[in-house]
Amino acid sequence: MEHQVSASLEVDFGGKILWPVAKIVLPTQWQMLKKGLRAWMGVWGAAALCLPVPIIHLVFPPIGLIAGPFLGLLVYLRSKKMIERIDAELSCPRCSQQLELHLTAVSLPSFDACPHCKAGYGIYSWKQEPAETLLASPLQP
Ligand SMILES: [Zn+2]
Repeated sequence: MEHQVSASLEVDFGGKILWPVAKIVLPTQWQMLKKGLRAWMGVWGAAALCLPVPIIHLVFPPIGLIAGPFLGLLVYLRSKKMIERIDAELSCPRCSQQLELHLTAVSLPSFDACPHCKAGYGIYSWKQEPAETLLASPLQP
């Protein structure tokens, strides 16, 4: 049940921007909801555990009761920006070596360096390339 898209990735090598083709796996709506619900239930579970404890049961459970849904929403919104997986290939503009990117659980921007020449780069964004437009080129006769 993965949501995989063809995309181009914005990779910035110190001002030189490349747009290599990439495969990106996005979290599904259900995966994001599950993460949010898990955080919410975690807070309520911890709040429930404090119920038999004197004094603390006056403080933490009421806070947890309110904070649970908020934390769940926060986790849900944050997981929307998370990318499950990025696979891309590009050639380093400094040393011309081929780089293979295999990243999991990424939130952008993400920074790394070329393993060959240590040129630093940042991945800033991506845009979807619908498979149909790749096949239907207007330049073809
Ligand atoms: Zn390099």
